Amino acid sequence: MFLAAMRHFAGELAKRGFPCDYQWLDDAANTQTLAGELRRAVTRHQPEALVMVQAGDWRVQQALETVAREAGIRMEIRDDRHFYCPVDWFREYSAGRKQLRLEFFYREMRRMHDVLMEGAQPVGGQWNFDSDNRESFGKKGPAFVAPPVAFPPDKVTVEVMELVRRCLGTNPGETARFDFPVTRPQAELALEDFIERRLPEFGKYQDAMWTAEPYLYHSRLSAAMNLKLLSPRRVVAAAVEAYRTGKAPLPAVEGFIRQILGWREYVRGIYWTQMPAYAQSNALNAQTPLPGFFWTGDTPMNCLQQTITQTFRYGYAHHIQRLMVTGLYALLLGVRPREIHEWYLAVYVDAVEWVELPNVLGMSQFADGGRMASKPYAATGKYIQRMSNYCAGCRFDPAASTGDRACPFTTLYWEFLLRNEEQLRSVPRMELQLRNLERLTESQRMAIVARAAQVRSM
Ligand SMILES: Cc1cc2nc3c(=O)[nH]c(=O)nc-3n(C[C@H](O)[C@H](O)[C@H](O)COP(=O)(O)OP(=O)(O)OC[C@H]3O[C@@H](n4cnc5c(N)ncnc54)[C@H](O)[C@@H]3O)c2cc1C
Ligand code: SF4
Repeated sequence: MFLAAMRHFAGELAKRGFPCDYQWLDDAANTQTLAGELRRAVTRHQPEALVMVQAGDWRVQQALETVAREAGIRMEIRDDRHFYCPVDWFREYSAGRKQLRLEFFYREMRRMHDVLMEGAQPVGGQWNFDSDNRESFGKKGPAFVAPPVAFPPDKVTVEVMELVRRCLGTNPGETARFDFPVTRPQAELALEDFIERRLPEFGKYQDAMWTAEPYLYHSRLSAAMNLKLLSPRRVVAAAVEAYRTGKAPLPAVEGFIRQILGWREYVRGIYWTQMPAYAQSNALNAQTPLPGFFWTGDTPMNCLQQTITQTFRYGYAHHIQRLMVTGLYALLLGVRPREIHEWYLAVYVDAVEWVELPNVLGMSQFADGGRMASKPYAATGKYIQRMSNYCAGCRFDPAASTGDRACPFTTLYWEFLLRNEEQLRSVPRMELQLRNLERLTESQRMAIVARAAQVRSM
């Protein structure tokens, strides 16, 4: 997707008469690193100065600055106006705050940017409509969900797909079903399609999962926004307009806007103010290697099998699949944060480090010790059972924590609490879960630990 979007953009620049020096990935002279290519470009063009928009990845920023320094050229880094919240503003906002919480940051963003506001008050008298959202589909499953508009690959994209097969063919994943937007007009169409056909139900079902329904009511717009094919301001304005014109209810619109004006900006602020130390976080001292089946989907756990297979097929999984299936399993198992971070960065079409790393390390693995989330997202298999139909097709029982049919999530949930009990005592929102742990008898604890050892060798 990155390469296809880049090549379309290079073509557009050429058409509009802007000079653009595009380096081809399969050119024999290509050094295969951005820094190496910048070094070669500096030799070719002998510039007086380099001007760039702040990079998405800390590592890329460092590498390009190093090239400029070594070549003795002035480098000007411009703020990325694509985002609502400049990094310096976030730095000031977070300085001195012992705890950062999304909810307060989000309210500040709503006020500052006058989004869904009536004077100083939130539209509808509430900042947050979570209590109206987060339903599951029940036994019947979802009604017909209009699939997102598809963009069959054009000549440029087909060439990229062939290039990917040729140069990166041994990597996991497929290109065959690729149909994401790769140009601005396509991204605009994808936005319109989402607003018209799926936004009204977005809030209600944003946490629900269902077999063979990868997108449900989600927008599938993350990659287009991360690649700047679509401005988040444009997306937020379109959602507000849908509310104002009566096309979508307030809980859906507010829930959707919170993801973009809230979470997306919040994680970027955390990333740029905490790097590079953030990438090394491992507050729970998790040391288990990433299970091999994360690269194949070959596991009897149906929820993981479905989510991982879908991931390799489409390069996409929605938020709850990422957080409460793959992320949850890694958290409970105690996978090394670095390894699970590298997996997420490798497998999703929207993966860029500034957004992926805080979501993985902070939100899903609690590796930052609570900087980003107020508690670990730890749950048993019963959560997955409530929010999906995965358990109905699984050989395990989400209600059982011990015995041969015990759901690995449920066993590992209790083992996770046992393993991290002391540390979690300092997390106020874990009080209830730890009180339930105290009710376990010694023999129940031993049975859980024994079953967890079996699960770990599965
Ligand atoms: C473990 C984990 C890893 C993730 N990795 C990435 C990643 O590499 N790249 C990425 O863009 N998002 C990532 N996310 C956030 C979120 O899951 C995806 O943005 C979302 O699933 C993309 O699908 P969508 O466009 O259909 O989103 P929708 O559900 O339609 O949401 C709308 C938009 O809100 C934004 N958004 C929603 N949740 C978040 C969030 N937690 N953080 C930042 N933005 C958010 C996205 O831009 C998204 O397009 C990750 C979340 C988790 C839990
Ligand atoms: S029973 Fe457990 S492993 Fe099986 S699908 Fe449900 S949560 Fe996943």
